[in-house]
Amino acid sequence: MIKTVKGCKDIYGREMELFQYIENVLSKMAESYGYTKIITPIIEYSELFQRSVGEDTDIVEKEMYTFQDKGGRSLTLRPEITASVARSYVENHFETLPAPLRKYYIGPCFRYEKPQKGRYREFYQFGVEAIGDISPLIDAEVISLAYNIAKQFSLKNIKVRLNSIGCRKCRPHYKEALKEALKPHYEELCSDCKRRFYTNPLRILDCKKESKELKESLPKITDYLCDECRNHFDKVKEYLSLMNIPFELDHTLVRGLDYYTKTVFEVISTDLGAQNALLGGGRYDYLIEELGGRPVPAVGFAMGMERLMTILKAENKIVRKDPVIYIAYQKEALKEAIEIANKLRGEGFITLLDIKGGSFKKQFERSSKRNASYTVIIGEEEKEKNTVQVKNMKTKEQKEIPKGEIVTFLKEWRKNA
Ligand SMILES: [Zn+2]
Ligand SMILES: [Zn+2]
Repeated sequence: MIKTVKGCKDIYGREMELFQYIENVLSKMAESYGYTKIITPIIEYSELFQRSVGEDTDIVEKEMYTFQDKGGRSLTLRPEITASVARSYVENHFETLPAPLRKYYIGPCFRYEKPQKGRYREFYQFGVEAIGDISPLIDAEVISLAYNIAKQFSLKNIKVRLNSIGCRKCRPHYKEALKEALKPHYEELCSDCKRRFYTNPLRILDCKKESKELKESLPKITDYLCDECRNHFDKVKEYLSLMNIPFELDHTLVRGLDYYTKTVFEVISTDLGAQNALLGGGRYDYLIEELGGRPVPAVGFAMGMERLMTILKAENKIVRKDPVIYIAYQKEALKEAIEIANKLRGEGFITLLDIKGGSFKKQFERSSKRNASYTVIIGEEEKEKNTVQVKNMKTKEQKEIPKGEIVTFLKEWRKNA
């Protein structure tokens, strides 16, 4: 038997139901803020992620699915989608479009990680990117969309964690101060952080292995922001208050990816456990430039769909399903049955035409097994009279109506159901 690749899985049944539900809600939410969808390829040149995500990140160092194609090019299954959207922005000259450009995406990503419960090597990400505007109002708008998404799924105790990680001007000063403060503790750091101390000391702040006391004792980046970053951060906070979005400042919040600047944030909920974020994002003002474009500021967030699926599954979330209409018939009326089925499908009804035929009793049984709401019955007699029988499968009520009224009848019922 051939199985799925390790860390990958099929999505079907109840999970598919939740997946589609989540996808619909997310798309509608993003579209209500003016975001339009973009699909980028699942494979990209490896260089894209090396340059954007950053060489010294777990993703690029250990977790990328990278391979050579038959032409000897190094390709990578995308580990995230922001880099691809940024690449697309440059390649397709989106800078000629009105700014900010608002895009959202949903699609599979791949990371070579140890598969654990709820964590897969192929996983789905939803995210938004607002590209081309420096205003803190767009940061606040993106955060408000993120917050309202969490609300839309009725998560408990939703909060925004917020921080600023500065810019090219001010971050180096902070890094120095941080290293100075960390120096006496160097030997206590975990092996990853010993390396990060030299390559990317900010990441030590969100290392789960380091003690809270140590982190609390370290200098705060917000004390090192330059005037521009400080003003930007103050404005973001002001706009969030204006939008009634509860947030808490957390100076240990840094993002795992190298391309972030200024605002970084996470949306957390107690549904996900103490420190677990539903989604995270921030501003990335240098990414487009690093990919060969003009300097273009941007802000966005990304969210794994699996976490939401797990929560909704645990909650036993009921997803409203469209009703199924089943068509039962005697073989003399097959032509009429097909006609009715097509007509109903054209009106947006999920319509199942019985395939095996045989006695009405057997066909009713099959209708029940498919959880049909109504069975439309057409036998020789109904064919003669140009009528159909409609049977409500829940109440077992059955009545005869003119064939021409079937759509009106079912629409009326659907409206009131
Ligand atoms: Zn700055
Ligand atoms: Zn560490």
